[in-house]
Amino acid sequence: MGQLYIDGAWTDAAEGGRREIRCPADGRLVAEVSEATAVDTERAIGVARAAFDDGRWSRVPAAERGALLLRVAELLQRDKARLAEAETRDTGKRLVESEIDMDDITNCFRWFGNLAATDDGRLVDTGMPDARSKVVHEPVGVCGLITPWNYPLLQTAWKVAPAVGAGCTFVLKPSELTPHTAIILMELLAEAGLPAGVGNLVLGAGATAGGPLSTDPRVDMVSFTGGLATGRTLMANAAATVKKVALELGGKNPFVCFADADHETAVDNALTAIFLHSGQVCSAGARLVVEESAHDRVVDDLVARAQRIVLGGPDDPATETGPLISAAHRDKVEAYVARGIAEGAVLRCGGERPTDPRLADGFYYPPTILDRCTQDMSVVHEESFGPVLTVETFTDLDDAVRIANDTEYGLAGAVFSADHGVCEEVAGRLRHGTVWINDFGPYVPAAEWGGFGHSGFGRELGRAGLAEYQEAKHIWTNT
Ligand code: NAD
Repeated sequence: MGQLYIDGAWTDAAEGGRREIRCPADGRLVAEVSEATAVDTERAIGVARAAFDDGRWSRVPAAERGALLLRVAELLQRDKARLAEAETRDTGKRLVESEIDMDDITNCFRWFGNLAATDDGRLVDTGMPDARSKVVHEPVGVCGLITPWNYPLLQTAWKVAPAVGAGCTFVLKPSELTPHTAIILMELLAEAGLPAGVGNLVLGAGATAGGPLSTDPRVDMVSFTGGLATGRTLMANAAATVKKVALELGGKNPFVCFADADHETAVDNALTAIFLHSGQVCSAGARLVVEESAHDRVVDDLVARAQRIVLGGPDDPATETGPLISAAHRDKVEAYVARGIAEGAVLRCGGERPTDPRLADGFYYPPTILDRCTQDMSVVHEESFGPVLTVETFTDLDDAVRIANDTEYGLAGAVFSADHGVCEEVAGRLRHGTVWINDFGPYVPAAEWGGFGHSGFGRELGRAGLAEYQEAKHIWTNT
């Protein structure tokens, strides 16, 4: 455990680097793992290139590739407890949340298993009696897959399952903070029968271990989930070798609440939307955009309930939300709140590190609500990625849409109203990749996930999630 996986073998990093992984809930040492450098990643890329070019996976019939993914789904369920435990130790999130993630990951593998197995391309009408035309789907090639720490295995599954289903080979680099479930996934892929060299894993810091994935000419595609700044760097790096790029970046997601919305439904959802996993969710509903006439009722209730949310580690059954991922991340969130207050926001709750000695060794930050915010505040338009809800008000539907869309991002948004026509209109006008009506957060693997604007491009899940890892080839036959 804790090594790189290259060419079907577990191996230490060539230069012998090691990294300590500590649980952000209490600072306890989880494990020491190998720390790759570019040398290891370049070797893994060479292996993935050779494995792609000799066709050991890319030329396997689609039905067999799909069947392998379905076997992985079974293994994920068999090993759900150890996977959830590993995810919880790396992230500090509650075990029950990790268990839900493992079910979602299983469903993701099932979806892509069934989709890949039946993906045969299509015949096209040529309009000519002596010509036949067919469009077939072929794998893109060698993929660099780079994933973040907030939903470590979920984000990994959204890339690995379609890449394998499409017939690609890959080098995976999970976040250096949360490597353990990616390690277990490699074990399960091998157990399910994925040939050596098809899937490779490097562990380590971003630019050092991950750098070659966007620069090496032997990589055909880089698929990245993470922050906007890193996404920009990778896209620029990839330009020199004209790699295909897919980016799933951040979000600054609006939660639009009309005065006629069912109060309990709206408040319940608004709380989960921002405080689940301490706001470390790309689709977190970080901006409450509430109709002015409902402001006091909604915000007073939110503040009262946010103050009662119990912070704690995964071993405490009373815990409702966990720590932030690192000391550096907590500093960043804290700085956003301080700047927001300096810019005129009204602090309604939270805003100070907890003093409870029980939480002293973890990176905790309380649910925080900043009221009377405006669009020009950095805490409103930049992603703090923490448990910080900003509140703005609107006067009518046009105003609500204008505020909701006034972001460089465009990942997700929600609208709450008793008037379904209003909801449909707002949903139609939001420039975001996912819109929830009178709900927040659910998704299904059959529906595409991805962003507008600076939230990135390319889609994960759905049919497009498989197509991302495929080239369409047109074969014309003169009969
Ligand atoms: P990050 O950009 O710091 O890191 C993401 C990954 O990129 C990590 O594995 C990191 O090691 C790697 N990396 C960093 N620099 C690199 C480089 N030069 N070359 C190669 N790899 C490099 O992001 P993070 O802090 O891990 O994750 C949080 C961000 O992820 C947030 O902005 C969040 O919104 C976003 N996110 C988006 C989605 C989505 O679906 N759109 C989902 C989850 C998280």
